[in-house]
Amino acid sequence: MKQTALSEQQPLLYQQLQKSFEHGRLAHAYLFKGDTGTGKKEFGLWMAKRVFCTQVTDNQPCNQCNNCLRIAENEHPDVLRVVPEGQTIKVDQIRALKAEFSKSGVETAQKVFLIEQADKMSIGAANSLLKFLEEPEGKILAILETTSLAKILPTIQSRCQILHFQPLVKEKLVRALTENGINSNTAELLAELTNSFDKAVEISQDEWFNEAREITQQWFDYLTKDDLQAFVYVQKKLVKVFKEKEQQALSFDLLLAYYRKRLTQSVAKQQQKRVLEQQAQRIELILKARQKWEANVSWQSVCEQLVIRMIHPKL
Ligand SMILES: [Zn+2]
Repeated sequence: MKQTALSEQQPLLYQQLQKSFEHGRLAHAYLFKGDTGTGKKEFGLWMAKRVFCTQVTDNQPCNQCNNCLRIAENEHPDVLRVVPEGQTIKVDQIRALKAEFSKSGVETAQKVFLIEQADKMSIGAANSLLKFLEEPEGKILAILETTSLAKILPTIQSRCQILHFQPLVKEKLVRALTENGINSNTAELLAELTNSFDKAVEISQDEWFNEAREITQQWFDYLTKDDLQAFVYVQKKLVKVFKEKEQQALSFDLLLAYYRKRLTQSVAKQQQKRVLEQQAQRIELILKARQKWEANVSWQSVCEQLVIRMIHPKL
């Protein structure tokens, strides 16, 4: 990733780290907390390069010197990256890391290690790392990455400077999802439902979600054609899919997402005011229906009323 992208992606963190480098006030351990796709990995690499680059210019690593290139290729002897083996980071992995660091005579005194998905450390691994963070040997920069702070031992947290990575803005989330093989329609829909990359991927892999989505799409099609099939459809299909409270909540989110998208498209196509107003009204009706359901009116009758109000607003 380019440096300009880093400064755009996480402007505050970028400035903060730049200052720390300039004033030589780098912490010896950082804990990066943020969703997948928010730049944790890129920032970790950038910091490692910034430490080892032999031609730093304008406070930027050059990305061309031998050190920068070896870091990018994960071949630098003083930059070590730990990733989970299977489901966990095992104590042996941390021990191997420590052994590597205690070897003398490797290039420089300075060393950097990066631990991806640090929340996957076993208890043994976490404790082993903790001792290391308490009594580091030599000049060390540790960078731990996690999507969930709650899963990191408080004792480790207190040894690290915690940096919070901001969630992706909608268009970046959509881009990140499509780059990960999710088709653009689904990606846009997911971005309406969550601003977390990980949550979006989790939802997209859920079989129930994919069924719910198809059924809601059909319902939406009936509604936009003012087809009263939409009424029967609640009883015939929807109730069978949206059973749990959590699922019913999502039914409103999904329908809202479809209507919001339709409204955005209509605005872009400069459709008549009457069309836009109708769509905006429908969004309001969905929000009202949701409130009723939250006030304990049954989900089925809320949905049936919603159909009637949309298709025959004057009734
Ligand atoms: Zn360089």
